[in-house]
Amino acid sequence: MAVRGEHVVVIGGAGFVGSHVCERLLHSGHRVTCVDSLLTGSADNVAALRGSDRFDVVCCDITLPPEKWPPFDPPSDVLHLASPASPKDYQRLPLATLRVGARGTEHALELATRHGARLVLSSTSEVYGDPVEHPQRETYWGNVNPIGPRSVYDEAKRYAEALVMAYHREYGTDVAIARVFNTYGPRMRADDGRMIPNFITQALRGRPLTVAGTGEQTRSVCYVDDTVSGLLALWRSDLTGPVNLGNPHEMTVRHVAEQIRDLTGTTSAVTTVPGAVDDPQRRCPDITLARTALGWQPEVPPREGLHRTVAWFATRAGSPLTPRT
Ligand code: UDP
Repeated sequence: MAVRGEHVVVIGGAGFVGSHVCERLLHSGHRVTCVDSLLTGSADNVAALRGSDRFDVVCCDITLPPEKWPPFDPPSDVLHLASPASPKDYQRLPLATLRVGARGTEHALELATRHGARLVLSSTSEVYGDPVEHPQRETYWGNVNPIGPRSVYDEAKRYAEALVMAYHREYGTDVAIARVFNTYGPRMRADDGRMIPNFITQALRGRPLTVAGTGEQTRSVCYVDDTVSGLLALWRSDLTGPVNLGNPHEMTVRHVAEQIRDLTGTTSAVTTVPGAVDDPQRRCPDITLARTALGWQPEVPPREGLHRTVAWFATRAGSPLTPRT
């Protein structure tokens, strides 16, 4: 059996969170293979890592049967972060989203089981749907509309969690489930439709910031470096989970927009657009389990993380605006 950490296969490694995971693993000396279909990920996200002789990129759609995959070396560990993750992406790619959560997860589990690898599933706070329990603990079963526009993502992840637990129970596969709450930071796509890239690009272009609905709905946003630390702490542990990973600092969407407007120094207005269907009204993780069992908690305050993210977008956009500290 392979030694843990010897060869980590990161499925979805060219995505926003996945590319940060690949980078951190390489920095800690691991050998890493990034497996990605590039459906919503981008080769640019891992371009800087390609100089390392411990890093490979394999363009591979894990929803296809494994005999159709390009070859890569057996993994000691499988980190499964592949999925469209923004509501705009998964609503334009409903079947691909269901397939990667279902078939993709099963193929990832087969791969891990065959090689005695530990598999970490990156699940989501969306398994809680529009929650009626606050903050959300891992014991909460959720409130998901199974046929609504968000269901392709929510139910795919719920099914993926069920699959992971079934492989664990039936084959003894070494598994872990992370429930990742809203994460933001450098390498989010400007056009991915989520509030933070939307508000930042709108502000940098001097356009109105589009707050959906009342703007009183809440999110708890976690800087990507913190999310990656949490995922890797879970991977290094013996925990199965599920474990919530998120920043419990709960903010209204309007407040996020106002902070970003402030940080960019734009004169843009904050405007209101129609709210999204089935939009969760409150979201806030209870991270007691991650704190006690993993010794993990977020370190980057939202204002600092937003500042870093605005600075990253400003450099790429060639914006004349200078982020405020
Ligand atoms: N939202 C918004 N303006 C935008 C994009 C999103 O007000 O331009 C809202 C969205 O309706 C939701 C919240 O921001 O209430 C977070 O949405 P996002 O797409 O970032 O992630 P979600 O947590 O819904 O998956």
